[in-house]
Amino acid sequence: MPRDTAIRSPEEVLHEVFGHGGFRGRQAEVVHHVVAGGSGLVLMPTGGGKSLCFQVPALCRPGLAIVVSPLIALMEDQVAALRQQGVAAAALHSELEEEERRAVWRDILSGQLKLLYVSPERLSMEGMLERMGSRSVALFAIDEAHCISQWGHHFRPEYRALTLLHGQFPEVPRVALTATADGRTVEDIRRLLDLQDAPVFRSSFDRPNIHLAAAPRESERQQLRAFLRRVDGTGIIYCGTRNKAEATAEWLRSDGHEALAFHAGMDTAAKREAHRRFARGEQVIMCATIAFGMGIDRPDVRFVAHLALPQGPEGWYQEIGRAGRDGLPAKALLLYGAGDIALSRHRIAESPAGQEQKRIERARLDAMVAIAESATCRRRTLLRCFGEDLEKDCGACDVCTNPPRLVDATVAAQKLISAAVRTGSRFGLGHLVDVLRGRMTDKVAQFGHDRLPTFGKGKEVAEGTWKDIARQLVAEGALDVAVENFGELVPTESARPLLRGERAFMLRESSFQPRAAREDRVA
Ligand code: ADP
Ligand code: ZN
Repeated sequence: MPRDTAIRSPEEVLHEVFGHGGFRGRQAEVVHHVVAGGSGLVLMPTGGGKSLCFQVPALCRPGLAIVVSPLIALMEDQVAALRQQGVAAAALHSELEEEERRAVWRDILSGQLKLLYVSPERLSMEGMLERMGSRSVALFAIDEAHCISQWGHHFRPEYRALTLLHGQFPEVPRVALTATADGRTVEDIRRLLDLQDAPVFRSSFDRPNIHLAAAPRESERQQLRAFLRRVDGTGIIYCGTRNKAEATAEWLRSDGHEALAFHAGMDTAAKREAHRRFARGEQVIMCATIAFGMGIDRPDVRFVAHLALPQGPEGWYQEIGRAGRDGLPAKALLLYGAGDIALSRHRIAESPAGQEQKRIERARLDAMVAIAESATCRRRTLLRCFGEDLEKDCGACDVCTNPPRLVDATVAAQKLISAAVRTGSRFGLGHLVDVLRGRMTDKVAQFGHDRLPTFGKGKEVAEGTWKDIARQLVAEGALDVAVENFGELVPTESARPLLRGERAFMLRESSFQPRAAREDRVA
């Protein structure tokens, strides 16, 4: 479509309608491209300013812009904000009363509306696209476009309806937007939305103001206390389960913090109240499941902590990305254990998903484990998951500021694995360490494990170090933890090369714990 059909220039709209002085990053490029009738894919981190990439073109082009969005809360937020700026916007979704729906349709058909937010399933309902007529559609914006991909971590089958758009409306620009930028998801989006020949506008995903740290869970509350002493203000603590969210909030309150729980199992009123207090800018610590987050837009979140290993780097990135949107320093902390890793692996193995889906989930989990266990710059490891290569180490993550020492622990690893094998792969770490350190416990006597060649062969290795070795072996996949059965350690196929001495085992000595312990003594 030629440029001269534009009603107003993008800069005018940006200034007069949205009150901003200028475009940020690649916004200007995207906006001019779409206003001129081009399609494209926009990859920008959360908080990067994706909305303006379609809102401004929507006001510059004739006709109605249709914005596909997966969440009603997200639609309502954006519509409310637009109306406040004096833009004719509305949303069509399943929670509207009949009366409201009719009013929206009246505005659509009278040509008054400029932006219409719809859920993907709505698009194919009510004969919507047929009633619209292609000449009155200014553009299609597909927000959270990763939902169309099975590779993405929020696959929504309804998004597949959008694969019909380019056939039905070849003249209308399609702009897909997402904060998920791993290569496979990106290719999937381009293929499914027929954007192979359209440009990809990729912004850097680096959020340099967020300090990254991860540590094996030793004494969770002590570690959390030490972390909370180094941060200030509002934060989110992602807990693996609803119970954990409740318990953590309660413990923090008893420890003198203003803390709230948030999870999908709470009643609507309680959820709304928690959301309201958070949105209003109160200084609180939200102890939440991942149910909390989509659509929250609070700029001054100072920290995000995870008490369990996320399922993949995309989810972790989005969750920590809720910190420091104002550009001021913020901190992220990830605490994880061997149990988390094993539990996730088992969950994937036992899920009813197909082989391909399982492979995807395993790859994603392995990438997350690699970040958690990284012995090199954590930011580099994370950004590499999004196809981005930092020129040098960030100098501002825990690994950069406090590099872990790597020691060759091949012999110790061999001892642990063979102790597990010789005891029949039926025991947890505690018992194996008793055997290795030559402790004559009742259990050792009962099973005659003092007669094993490994008995007492690991006295020189401290108890805590055995734990580090075990966790790292689990992370590498050489040991499996049978989570259902009291955490017994089971060597896997990939333990063989280690046992045969064909590869070395480098132990990453954790640097977080001693420092946290020291701080606790000072306090
Ligand atoms: P995303 O959807 O990518 O997470 P948003 O579109 O919600 O990000 O934008 C994040 C914040 O940045 C919003 O508060 C928005 O008003 C602000 N913002 C975006 N672009 C600009 C700009 N060019 N100038 C000033 N503020 C902007
Ligand atoms: Zn770093």
